[in-house]
Amino acid sequence: MSKTIETLKLGSPSPGTTRELKVHRYGIPGAGKKAYFQAALHSDEYPGLLVANHLIALLDAADDKGDITGEIVVVPVANPVGLGQQLLGQHVGRNEFSGGGNFNRSWPDLSDAVFERVEARLGPDDSENVALIRRALVEEVAAMEVKTEFDGLRKALLGLSISADMVFDLHCDNEALMHLYTSARHRDLAVELACDIAAPVALLEMDPGGAPFDEANSGVWWKLREKAGDEFPISTACFAVTVELRGRNDVYDELAHVDAAGLFRFLQRRGVIAGDPGVLPESQGEPTPLEGTDVIRSPGAGVLAYHKHLGDWVQAGETVAELIDLMADDPKQARTPITSKASGLFFARMNEKLVRQGAEICKVAGKEPLEHRKAGGLLES
Ligand SMILES: [Zn+2]
Repeated sequence: MSKTIETLKLGSPSPGTTRELKVHRYGIPGAGKKAYFQAALHSDEYPGLLVANHLIALLDAADDKGDITGEIVVVPVANPVGLGQQLLGQHVGRNEFSGGGNFNRSWPDLSDAVFERVEARLGPDDSENVALIRRALVEEVAAMEVKTEFDGLRKALLGLSISADMVFDLHCDNEALMHLYTSARHRDLAVELACDIAAPVALLEMDPGGAPFDEANSGVWWKLREKAGDEFPISTACFAVTVELRGRNDVYDELAHVDAAGLFRFLQRRGVIAGDPGVLPESQGEPTPLEGTDVIRSPGAGVLAYHKHLGDWVQAGETVAELIDLMADDPKQARTPITSKASGLFFARMNEKLVRQGAEICKVAGKEPLEHRKAGGLLES
């Protein structure tokens, strides 16, 4: 048995209060590939919390049998700061109450600082370069300045993930099918993971923008590669993926068990856990470019009546919902059709039916990049 459990204290944000992270560790550091999992960085996305619970049970059993061949780190509650945010009886996640912004944006880009540390020592051997860069990444995170509790949380999570070969950031959407976001540079791994967790949508991008947690871990590798040029080989050594575990209310043991088993199989396939994962399950859908996803906004304020359900195929120009103007004098004049610019899978929509002007209401994953979408703006443009 290799398992250890560690408790990391975060700084005290106010007199008499402290929060902590629980860290479940398996395997021997450096023995093989390292996988890192964290759940609910946005804090109000609960499916990952239950999936992590199931995953830990599976990993405990594998560890008892001596089957952990790499290193695995699981942080089952990634954001105790956000989990404590209650306003008038409602849990409010996503953004930090103290002004720190969106919990999954503005993560640091360590590439400049790490390049400075390693530039003079890079050589012709890729694996030596990767090992050198990993050590420098760990040192750079250790040197990060902590001014607030949220800074401390960022530093602690990044300190656990930054040396990993695989990073799984477990999120969810509002109402959605299983989907994932990752770099187009890791297309093959994305396809394999999507098969193992039965995700019909995999959104790939070259430059996500917004600096989410996954990119803080994986992006540093291709940025260093660009800086180093052809002379010094550097692999894109970290596959980091944001897994959207359906919708906020999809928190059931039946689903969580299946999802954890899918992640476990993927780890077996990648050589982090011994045992036969079986044949790769059939693909549920081809990956599509992030710029091909139409994030449809409400043109005004009112009540939404959806025409499309999750999993429906939508043609460009087709009506996905109608907005009903509650202030209209004539109900026959009150309806505005809302259409999709993309032809593709209707895979996510908002649960709230009373919407404000400009609210993002649903997403359609199309194959073709859309003219109105700006690359590098995550899904916010
Ligand atoms: Zn999220």
